[in-house]
Amino acid sequence: MTRAVLTLNAGSSSLKVALYPEAGDMPLATGLADRIGPDGHLRLKLPDLHETPRITSHGVAIEAVIDALTLRWPDLDLVAVGHRVVHGGLRETHAPITPDLLTELEALSPFAPLHQPHNLAGIQAAMQAFPGVPQVACFDTAFHRTHPWEADTFALPRRFYDQGVRRYGFHGLSYDYVSSVLPADLTRVVVAHLGNGASMCAIRDGRSIASTMGFSALDGLPMGTRSGQLDPGVLLYLMEQQAMSPAEISDLLYKQSGLLGLSGISNDMRVLEASDAKEAAQAIGYFTLRCAREVAGLAAAMGGIDGLVFCGGIGENSARVRRQICAGLGWMGITLDEARNLAHGPEIGAGGVRVLVVPTNEELVIAKAARGVA
Ligand code: AMP
Repeated sequence: MTRAVLTLNAGSSSLKVALYPEAGDMPLATGLADRIGPDGHLRLKLPDLHETPRITSHGVAIEAVIDALTLRWPDLDLVAVGHRVVHGGLRETHAPITPDLLTELEALSPFAPLHQPHNLAGIQAAMQAFPGVPQVACFDTAFHRTHPWEADTFALPRRFYDQGVRRYGFHGLSYDYVSSVLPADLTRVVVAHLGNGASMCAIRDGRSIASTMGFSALDGLPMGTRSGQLDPGVLLYLMEQQAMSPAEISDLLYKQSGLLGLSGISNDMRVLEASDAKEAAQAIGYFTLRCAREVAGLAAAMGGIDGLVFCGGIGENSARVRRQICAGLGWMGITLDEARNLAHGPEIGAGGVRVLVVPTNEELVIAKAARGVA
């Protein structure tokens, strides 16, 4: 019997999968189905490459994953399936999926309309595909439930906090992994998860004490297509003076803003870095300035900083972005060794505050949580 744990990370048009053995940190297989729809395509490393075209839905993707895995391991025995779920409300720990939990998570969909419904669709598809196999929900919010009240609230009348208008924070699976592999002497760390979605987290003694993302996955840093922090007066202006509807504003803030909106060229950092256009450089400049400001703000929330850690597609791969962010932080003792920065670390600091590049591994956190219930 090949006893294993499957992890699923369902996005709007993608499904990231990994198969882990019952014990150990190295996956047996990893894969990604992207552009799910008419052009959907699944690539699985088993470790030899297995490709499946015409992935039209998340359900089809999961079936194709099962077909490929059982072809490779005819004796495959799944002991649990772990799912990334963006919003877990006030839950502090990951949890086995039950009908009651599903109802609770569906009620949170309005808090994360662009992510939660897709996560739940992935769970439904997996429950159909693997009846009887324990399924576990792993929440991006859970890691941040250690926020002190001041970092958890907005300055609105208190009733809104009680109604759930809080700074939940996201990317918690990534922060959980990164903090688990950091040197023990780093007690006050800012972790910068910079990818298509981007946020930063102040982690003191392994616990999240503040995060740039707040109530939704829109706040804080600018992202591929999301605005990041915005003066709320802009929203009032858009509604009152430009008569934009909630749906139009949602589309603007989630899909047309960020690096894409600023550059008018692309949401993809690689494309912007390769471009000679002034707008591309300005978009990167805005991104890195906001990042530098947040590092300083989060350091203040911890009373100082011992380490700055970069992860995510941009954080792990873009020497230019790291250089531009750190260029504004020398006064805090954050300076880069450029040769190490170009080599992508792991240590890239030139002394003082340690600066690291740590490839994140959300799948491993999900696999471990799923094993915990199997
Ligand atoms: P993620 O959402 O974590 O997969 O990150 C996606 C982002 O990482 C995109 O903006 C990519 O352009 C960016 N990225 C990936 N590789 C590189 C690279 N070598 N240089 C700059 N940006 C990169």
